[in-house]
Order: sequence, then structure tokens, then C-alpha cells
Amino acid sequence: MTKQEVDSLLRAAQPLIDLAIAEDIGPGDATSEAILAADAVLKGRIVAKSAGVIAGLPVAEAVFRRVHPDIEFIAHVDDGQEVVPGELVAEVRGPGRGLLAAERTALNFLQRMSGIATLTRRFVDAVACTSAAILDTRKTLPGYRVLDKYAVRMGGGLNHRMSLYDMILIKDNHIAAGGIIPAVARARTACPDLPIEVEVRSLDELCQALSITPSVERIMLDNMSLEEIRQAVSITAGRVPLEVSGNITLEGVAEAAATGVDYISVGALTHSVKALDLSMEVGRVEETSIPDLSSRVARLKSILGERLVILGHHYQRDEVIAFADFRGDSLKLARDATQTDAEFIVFCGVHFMAETAAILAKPGQHVLIPDATAGCYLADTATLEAVQAAWDVLETVFGDADAEFTPITYVNSSAALKAFCGRHNGVVCTSGNAAKVLDWALEQRPRVFFFPDQHLGRNTAKRMGIPLHEMLLWNVHYPPNPEAIRQARVILWPGACNVHQRFRPEHVAAVRERFPGVRVIVHPECKMEVVDLADDVGSTAHIIRQVEAAPPGTRWAIGTESRLVHRLQREHPEQLVISLADVPPFCRTMGQITLPKLAHVLEALAGGELVNEVCVEAETAHWARKALERMLELG
Ligand code: SF4
Repeated sequence: MTKQEVDSLLRAAQPLIDLAIAEDIGPGDATSEAILAADAVLKGRIVAKSAGVIAGLPVAEAVFRRVHPDIEFIAHVDDGQEVVPGELVAEVRGPGRGLLAAERTALNFLQRMSGIATLTRRFVDAVACTSAAILDTRKTLPGYRVLDKYAVRMGGGLNHRMSLYDMILIKDNHIAAGGIIPAVARARTACPDLPIEVEVRSLDELCQALSITPSVERIMLDNMSLEEIRQAVSITAGRVPLEVSGNITLEGVAEAAATGVDYISVGALTHSVKALDLSMEVGRVEETSIPDLSSRVARLKSILGERLVILGHHYQRDEVIAFADFRGDSLKLARDATQTDAEFIVFCGVHFMAETAAILAKPGQHVLIPDATAGCYLADTATLEAVQAAWDVLETVFGDADAEFTPITYVNSSAALKAFCGRHNGVVCTSGNAAKVLDWALEQRPRVFFFPDQHLGRNTAKRMGIPLHEMLLWNVHYPPNPEAIRQARVILWPGACNVHQRFRPEHVAAVRERFPGVRVIVHPECKMEVVDLADDVGSTAHIIRQVEAAPPGTRWAIGTESRLVHRLQREHPEQLVISLADVPPFCRTMGQITLPKLAHVLEALAGGELVNEVCVEAETAHWARKALERMLELG
């Protein structure tokens, strides 16, 4: 989020803030003025009561300052960041009467905008495995257009036109006046500088729109069935970007995106807003502060001594990673897990990582995770059943899939998929060793089935010189035809990480313009279009090494999870380190591991109780270990 973006948000918000304050406070807050002393100073904590994405912090701050300029507002998260229930969003301190008078209005803005950002993120996550982007519409609350559309961007969506003046959108009512082709011609003549989008309601109208030269900038498929959309994608063959519009629900959006369209517009993002549940607690601020919890965790660690080892992934919160005995990415932590003899391994990361540690653990070792529900969006895109169904199709096409394919699973996957690879003479890989593993796999058999991350698979294979036409993206809704399968050397599962997927090519162009000489370094879970534009690509360990080795004054725009980027910023003040994206993406599930949860697990351990132990069923663990050991042998 740039300063200009915040400035333009606040310019649009100011009259709304004035209106809202006049409406709510009027001549004064009768209750606070009657009860609170004029010089009373209060502190308040704005806390999330449900999970969601925060948007509108600058507006909330402006409300408090408008009511009383001495109120201090300290944000504890950024706009665009996901929060979990109980998480501290912001603190306010200052004149008590002003603070209480501003509370409702500030929360109303923050809750509404965060509600929009939260719903947008749900849609964006639902299509993360495809190349479709989520767009908003003009169905915004009158007067709130800039705020609503800002919130959509914080949720990871893109803005469609802002108003009627900045784009031509020819709809059925315009077409009724004389047909698509004359309407486009008239619009092009009248407004040669504006992009043109044409709405079509049938494949016949689509063909008319496609026949126009020069071509229109976008075609909107209005209220078409899934089958019609698929046909439209096939007919258009990439000549003009396609947008799907009309009655798109959260349940149906993934299937619509899987047809191959470029954009999906969703009016519900802004016309059916459910406010995010946030509240402000006044006065009760210090009960479990981070310093208190830190000393509790430190004390428990020293009680457990060498019986305990804590592993922490780079994307963990600062206050949690501070207690990690070993810090690293998936590959390093998998190795660290095999090196320790500690009786208890507490894994501060997501579930598949703890599962990996449990598979590699020695007899008598216990692996625990502070929050057993901390999953991974990417890992969840591939279930054993779905991968098995795809394997069955490969069996049908080739007769013996085992002779033809080496299955490779990225370590970000369930134990069941690692076991699948173990059973089929396959292997696990991480972002740090994917090329080495892919090379080995292609020496074993002519083809590779790579899951769940399509981007890691594609980026790695491309860097090894495998042409794109030898790679095939699997489609779980519409499996490819046998001929296409036979021509593929690398079959890619259509999974993606919803954090790394949010970096876009236009972010690279924007940072290069704003920061001349900046080096763009990205994680290979980013899309190929982003990786191709970057100066360097590599695992989180690689990214850290590059920043550590760079001379003072180096400028970095980093395409990976934002907690790591922020930590690098603090650890390298001699360099400029920024997130590649304008709305820095955080991994929600990594953020589920909090200091209170870590303290809870350690407290239970010190009391002789195992909570949240991660266990893998023996048969699954046996085969998964085979695939993991193959990877560890490869290095
Ligand atoms: S950053 Fe992406 S791949 Fe990593 S744990 Fe989060 S969702 Fe999974």
C-alpha cells in the first residue's frame, strides 16, 4: 500500500467521517461526558472476534484523530493481513471522552471494510489454483466507492472500472440500440483512449465481438452456463481476455475459474457485506501481554531443558520464532528434525511440517504443534482421493502408470500423498531441491507427475529447459484428453499457494519504476509470469542468504510471505527491503501459532501431559518415510 493510495483513501473518507461523526456524536457524547472526568486518559485494544482480513486502519485512525487530535493509534497488523479470533488489531490511547465517543464510528468503518476484504479473500483463495482474478463491480454503497474498492484490493481482488467515466462497458441496453459492431465503432470514435469491454450473452454474440478489429480490450460473458463458458474459452483461444459475470457464488467460483477465464466479477463483494466482528476493550489491556508470556515460555523451556526442542519456520510470528532452537524452511527443518534426540519436538509451523517431523522422528520422540488446525492452503488443494483418481486416468492411458511416471510431491502435502509417492517409487521435494529431485525423477522414468504446487513444478521444469508444451496442467473438473496426456512429459497438479499466488507481474513493473536498481527476488511458488520478470528465484533460505550477503544500500523487493520480509527489514536496516506486492501477503495459518498457544503446549508438557501430538498411522508413515528418505539422500 503506497502513501498515495492511503492519501487518496483518506481524501475520499474525510467527508464520510465528518458525516458519520455528526450523525453519531452531534453536540456531544452525553454518557461519557456525564461519567468520565474531563482529564481521564484511557487505553483501548481493538481485537478480532472472528477470523478475517483487516482493511481500513487509516480510516479508523482518522476517525479517532478527528474526534480528538491527542488520541494515539498504534496498528498491530497491516491492512490486508489476516487475523485470528482474539488477535490484537490496534491499540488506542488518549483522552477518555474522545476515545469512547469515536469508538463506534471508527469500528463501523473498520468492520465494514474488513468484511469486504474478508469476503474478497475467500473468493481469491477459492480460485488461487487458476489464473483467474477476482474483480469487484459498481455495486458499492453510494458515496463509499473508494473505500469499498480499497477494501477489495486489500482482500486480494482487483478493481473493475471505478465509475462510468473511466472505461466503456457496452451492455445489452446499448447493444439493443443497433448491434455490437456499430456500438463498438461509435464508442471507439467518441472515446479513443478508453478501454472497451463488451458484454455478450451467447456464443453467437461472442463471435461477433471477436470479429471486431482492432479487438476490444475485454469481453464479458454474462450469465452463461459452465458449458457455454468452456466453449467461449475454447473459441476465444486467448485472443481477448474474458470476464465471467452473473450470480457467481463462493461455492461455484472455483469451477467457473477452472474453465480458463481471465476474470470473474462478483457484485456480492460490496453489495452483500457482512461486517467483520471486531470489538474495543477499554481498560483491560495488560492481562496477558507479550512480555509476560515470553517470560513464561522462557521459564518453561528451561524447566524442560534438553528434553525439548522447538523448530520454527521463517513465516512464524516474531514473538514465536524468538523461542525456536532451529529456524529454517521446510527442507532445513526436515533435516533438523532427524538430527535431534530431544524427547519432545514442538513444531511452530503448519500441520504438514509437524507431520513430516513425526514421520522422521525416532522411537520415543513426540512431535507437537501449538495449534493442530494450522493447515496449509496449498497442501489442501490435493487430496489422496483426487490424486488417485488422476493416477487411475494415467493408468488407463498408458496401461502401467508406474512404468511411465515418477510421482513427486512437494513437501507441502499430506502424509497420505507422501506415502502415495513412497508406494509408487516416487519422492518428496522442497523448493530448495526441486531441480535436483526432478532431474533424478526423469532419470528413473520418462515422465513426472508433480503435485500439489503447479508453479513450483512449472518454474523448476522450465529452468531445467523443459519446454512449456511438454507440461500439462491437470484439471480435476475436466481431465485432459488422452492425446494431450500422451504428449506431456511433466503433468502438473493445479494447486497453488494462496500467499505466493498474490504476487503479479504488474507488481514487478511498479517496484522497478518506484525504486530504480531494485533487485526482485521471488519464491518459486509464485506464478511463472512473475518468476520470469524477477532477477532471482529461490527458496526462503536462498532469499535470506542473498539479502545477508548483499552490500549496504542494496534494494530488494521480495516475493514471499511478509513476516519473513518484515524480519529481514529489521535485521538489515543498511539495505532497503520491501514486499514485492502493494498489499503484502501474510500466511493466515502460519499466524495461527501464537505465543499463548505455545505457552499452553509447554505448560502441559511440563505437567506431564501431551497436547496436540501429531501422529501418523504406521503404514502411511512407513511409505511416506521412504519418499522422504529418497529426498534426503538426494540432498
Ligand atoms: S505460505 Fe502458502 S505454502 Fe506456505 S504454509 Fe502458507 S499457504 Fe502453505
